Amino acid sequence: MVDPPGSDVRRAVPRTDVVLADPGLAEAIQRLGPALVKQAVQRAQHRCRTGEVAPESVAAAAREELPRSGTAMRRVLNATGVVVHTNLGRAPLSAAAVEALAVAAGATDVELDLASGRRGRRGRSALDALAAAVPEAGGVHVVNNGAAALALVACALAGPGRPDARDPVAQRRTEVVIARGELVEIGDGFRIPELLESVGATLREVGTTNRVHLADYAGAVGERTAFVLKVHPSNFVVSGFTSSVGLAELATLDAPLVVDIGSGLLAPHPRLPQEPSAAAALRAGADLVTASGDKLLGGPQCGLMLGDAELVERLRRHPFARALRVDKLTLAALEATLTGPVSPVAAALAASPEELCQRAEQICNAVADVVEAEVVISEAAVGGGGAPGVRLPSAAVALPVHLAGPLRVDPVLPIVGRVERGALLLDLVAVDPAEDEALVAALRRVVAAD
Ligand SMILES: *Cc1c(COP(=O)(O)O)cnc(C)c1O
Repeated sequence: MVDPPGSDVRRAVPRTDVVLADPGLAEAIQRLGPALVKQAVQRAQHRCRTGEVAPESVAAAAREELPRSGTAMRRVLNATGVVVHTNLGRAPLSAAAVEALAVAAGATDVELDLASGRRGRRGRSALDALAAAVPEAGGVHVVNNGAAALALVACALAGPGRPDARDPVAQRRTEVVIARGELVEIGDGFRIPELLESVGATLREVGTTNRVHLADYAGAVGERTAFVLKVHPSNFVVSGFTSSVGLAELATLDAPLVVDIGSGLLAPHPRLPQEPSAAAALRAGADLVTASGDKLLGGPQCGLMLGDAELVERLRRHPFARALRVDKLTLAALEATLTGPVSPVAAALAASPEELCQRAEQICNAVADVVEAEVVISEAAVGGGGAPGVRLPSAAVALPVHLAGPLRVDPVLPIVGRVERGALLLDLVAVDPAEDEALVAALRRVVAAD
């Protein structure tokens, strides 16, 4: 029986210790810790005080208020049609990588050689897997993300006060030669030129916004040059009267050639012919390649550096490298991504439009009795992670647009679609087929509550 608002319900609100005696909440304390459970109890007590919840139902209400896990981050179904979605955490990990995370979570031999009992090379199995995946690389190193990789390269090869550059001539090499058309902003205000300057490198810009020639580079390379940098425009395309200089030509210049390929493709991908890969860049003459681990490689957030063994060793030994060091979880997930079955990103890139259509049809049929849903042909995108301009043929379930909000806040499985031409589209390209059933269940739940 709920007291009418305004009456003195305070005395009727059960005390915290009484509520916490509830077996479900006691179990939750074991799993989530006392702080989160107490907060849930307090919220339920508040609802009791306002008359929304009866005193005898406070424990049940508190159970409803419990978070599902120790993180407030929610698992989300990516039905946006953007395979590598920055706001959804970029690449989802493969089951193998998730399992590796769990293995590495406890005490692990990440930096210990169990056979000898001595210190071992940190993350050696992950680094070996990366080296094996790109035989063209003489050395490999991993840091926290693509930006960190680039910062470390700039610091170690062009920054002031380098430990390996005691002689004055080498010390003067602080210029990074870069084409004006490659002064890229990646997203959220992150600009590659500003990053380079922030670690003390000087930019030597060559060419114009739309065109640059080998002679422009050659005229700029001199005794102050630390390296030539080629940046892949991973989130835009320029067309029209344009020209850029290929890696093979840049490799003829008298300076180390560093290539930021961005996306992290290790080898060329047949569906993304314009997207650079680490192997191809090194074969074309790059001395160093930097890339992200959580874009097209489909792994955890990290930054990869591959190339000339001596240069990589200089990066690894630079004091700044320690500040960018990856944790054991990243190393474990990266290794499993490299050695394991196809990543969800790779699977999405390989998805056949016919199969996506069939799945969309099945989903439509499974909800036809409760909501107007139809299969539509869709064009999906790789995302900010690479391959700008590439449209992936896909299929989507089209729904009434007003369901977009409720689906996003579904308590069990939030679903993020995209609104297009006045309809909500749930694009299946980046949805694991194993999740179709959960998607149908969420749809039915949301429509029922609508
Ligand atoms: C994404 C990207 C970066 C930054 O990598 P993060 O992993 O996001 O730090 C740098 N350069 C290029 C070309 C990129 O596409």
